Amino acid sequence: MDMAAESGVLKQHLIDPEICIRCNTCEATCPVQAITHDSRNYVVDAAKCNLCMACIPPCPTGSIDNWRTMPIVRAYSVEEQLTWDSLPAELTTDELAASGVAADAEPAVEPVAPSLPAAVSGETAFSSAQYGTTLPPWSAAHAYTNLYGPKAADKSVTATVVGNVRVTEVGKQYDTHHIVLDFGAMPFPVLEGQSIGVVPPGVDEQGRAHHARQYSIASPRNGERPGYNNVSLTIKRVLEDHSGKPVRGVASNYMCDLQVGDKVQVIGPFGSSFLMPNHPKSHIVMICTGTGSAPMRAMTEWRRRLRASGKFEGGKLMLFFGARTKEELPYFGPLQSLPKDFIDINLAFSRTPASPKRYVQDLMRERAADLAPLLADPNAYFYVCGLKAMEEGVVLALRDIAKQAGLDWDTIGTALKKNGRLHLETY
Ligand SMILES: Cc1cc2nc3c(=O)[nH]c(=O)nc-3n(C[C@H](O)[C@H](O)[C@H](O)COP(=O)(O)OP(=O)(O)OC[C@H]3O[C@@H](n4cnc5c(N)ncnc54)[C@H](O)[C@@H]3O)c2cc1C
Ligand code: SF4
Ligand code: SF4
Repeated sequence: MDMAAESGVLKQHLIDPEICIRCNTCEATCPVQAITHDSRNYVVDAAKCNLCMACIPPCPTGSIDNWRTMPIVRAYSVEEQLTWDSLPAELTTDELAASGVAADAEPAVEPVAPSLPAAVSGETAFSSAQYGTTLPPWSAAHAYTNLYGPKAADKSVTATVVGNVRVTEVGKQYDTHHIVLDFGAMPFPVLEGQSIGVVPPGVDEQGRAHHARQYSIASPRNGERPGYNNVSLTIKRVLEDHSGKPVRGVASNYMCDLQVGDKVQVIGPFGSSFLMPNHPKSHIVMICTGTGSAPMRAMTEWRRRLRASGKFEGGKLMLFFGARTKEELPYFGPLQSLPKDFIDINLAFSRTPASPKRYVQDLMRERAADLAPLLADPNAYFYVCGLKAMEEGVVLALRDIAKQAGLDWDTIGTALKKNGRLHLETY
């Protein structure tokens, strides 16, 4: 940040640790890498943040939208912010005056208007995150968000576990569960593509209450069991960290071990852009790995129910789904029973013995002839969810498919972003 010394005061961008659900969206969005995190907090480096505002709309909780007028010499450091459990109060006029800041002093840097990232106009290196939209499809239903949370009137809602079954083959190390939560008489309206936060009981190593973990909803808007006030989740038991070191993930193990009848504290719902189009003949292309299948299951099931009602004419549904082996692919069995004229399923396995490794982007390239017209079609919406590592390869595959079909990627990439057509949610 260019901290113009004349005024001696800056508008410091801060994240509220009480509301933040540590979803990483802001860090993935920030074009200048001003956001960083440790195992506890997400924080903004005042020396890097240029107040471009790109991180504000995608934040599911609003925790990113906090500002403090600070004397430049007293700006909160990254190290200091990482220790916070709550935001500090605004400095009083007296405190500002004691630091030599006049009451009417203007912050040195004002926010600049949000603009399309440079990569969309082709000026810098390829970055998948810059093509992801923060807008819902124009025909998406209205999403309710943040009905329950640390700062909402109702802090959390108690849900009851009404189902918990394993959806990957028993005996394999990869253990994923389909968990159904019922909210009883508490209102909890959701849409496909939204997520909830689960608050694990107990405290962390520092004795602080565990922060909520986010899980995508795997059921359609009218419930896993239609007509009941319930949602389903697809949760992978985390037994090793991203580098393969053994760990016991707090929330995922808590959830996978729950018994029917147990109570769970839930916040949310979250998310107002990763939503499905509702207009007739709209096409949906779903690209996922592992538990990234949860929102895809929700969207597919909603379209299946609409089709069964005979009152809605959907467009194409294409699914590209990757896992190491078929035994590790959640919902492998039920997927096989979906009619071929309803959904076009493409499965990629990267660790099947005696078979070459195949990833979702390999399958996408094989289906380029079908994907290129959809890229050019304003009624086609693309959803990517799953491992962070897949995101770049998938968006690069979309770019190459467009280019090979003679389409102008700058135009297509800009349209995907501006028209709420390319949704990226990787973690
Ligand atoms: C938008 C969003 C949607 C999500 N949806 C789902 C979902 O539908 N299903 C689901 O299972 N998870 C989902 N997650 C991930 C989930 O929120 C948790 O991060 C995950 O369950 C691990 O939490 P934990 O408390 O078990 O592990 P923690 O105790 O938080 O972490 C333990 C260690 O494991 C590492 N770790 C964290 N997550 C993973 C992982 N996935 N694989 C390997 N190592 C990991 C951490 O870095 C840490 O070192 C989603 C995350 C986001 C941001
Ligand atoms: S306002 Fe812009 S520069 Fe600052 S943290 Fe957000 S995205 Fe990054
Ligand atoms: S909740 Fe908002 S501030 Fe917290 S990590 Fe997610 S995007 Fe960032």
